[in-house]
Amino acid sequence: SVTLSLLQSAANAFDFGGPVLCDAHHYGEGHINDTFVVWREDHSKRFILQRINTDTFTNPVGLMENVCGVTRHLRAKILAEGGDPARETLNVIPTLSGSTCYLDADGGAWRAYDFVEDTICLQQVGSEADFRTVAETLGKFQNQLEDYPASTLHETIARFHDTPNRYANFEKALAADALGRAKNITSEIEFIHAREQDCHVLLDQLAAGEIPLRVTHNDTKINNVLIDAATGKGICVIDLDTVMPGLSAYDFGDSIRTGANDCAEDEPDQSKVHFDLHLYEVFAKGYLSTAGASMSIAEKKSLAWGARLMTLECGIRFLTDYLEGDHYFHIARPDHNLDRARTQFTLVRQMEEVFDQMLEIVCPDNH
Ligand code: ADP
Ligand code: MG
Ligand code: MG
Repeated sequence: SVTLSLLQSAANAFDFGGPVLCDAHHYGEGHINDTFVVWREDHSKRFILQRINTDTFTNPVGLMENVCGVTRHLRAKILAEGGDPARETLNVIPTLSGSTCYLDADGGAWRAYDFVEDTICLQQVGSEADFRTVAETLGKFQNQLEDYPASTLHETIARFHDTPNRYANFEKALAADALGRAKNITSEIEFIHAREQDCHVLLDQLAAGEIPLRVTHNDTKINNVLIDAATGKGICVIDLDTVMPGLSAYDFGDSIRTGANDCAEDEPDQSKVHFDLHLYEVFAKGYLSTAGASMSIAEKKSLAWGARLMTLECGIRFLTDYLEGDHYFHIARPDHNLDRARTQFTLVRQMEEVFDQMLEIVCPDNH
């Protein structure tokens, strides 16, 4: 936990244009970083001050290089398009010594942003219109970063969406079977083994030069898009910690995995798990309306694979953690990770049944 005095000493390191007042209550509903709001003493302006989760992100300086590079690029694009860079991208506040983050005496790493005012942050998809808005905003983000040199970005979590590697890690956990749990999951093991080749589809296309390396966000949940409170338009993509080189299929696929269904990620009753092809279509149309112009037919088709593979990969990760004794994902009940894995696999199975339609939606008549 973060004490007020630790927070205040971190705040004192930044160039907020004067002293700030701190509140030790966490702000927002993020699960990764410790997020706080600090106010200028005269209450004229507030800022976001975050302690970066350095268990997850072991190279905070490299991470901030990514964030600064990407937001600088976005700012130039937004200006050229006549937008408002103060609201439409994150703005990093430097420390008083000109660094992008502050390292405290306990090994904590802190960074600060302007607070993007007059926005709402949805925690779940409430309506089709919301989902479309998020899709358009993420597509625009993708499009604005189309000409950013993706390969110069640090990989903030190594091999994050390397699906064959996730598969290999599952195989290792299964071979070790440290808790003797493999006997409980024979049908899930069979399910994964039957899809070994699928795990390679996207990375093979990348290696063959059929789809491009992109700047990807890698945490395209609805609460990482701020929506303008007055207009309802998507305004700013936040939470750039996992910006990395990747594939558009990763961001598209993870949004579909988390948003195109109406069940909880850990729904134990598989009869309540429904992949919603209509929501998939809503998202796809929104995303392609802003990102489609810079995408080839092959890349559009890869989006449908992204939905399948991000969901499969996530299920594989849950099941790997189940076999290894639940030390990565927090569990609130026994078999929690098993329920989570089963839910992902149910979604995968349903996507497979309608996969031709999924392809047609992202790439109508091969256009
Ligand atoms: P986490 O990785 O923990 O999800 P986020 O960077 O997404 O951290 O921040 C957590 C929450 O704080 C966001 O969901 C949002 O509500 C709020 N937030 C973050 N940055 C800003 C900002 N610049 N302006 C306004 N709200 C923000
Ligand atoms: Mg977040
Ligand atoms: Mg995050």
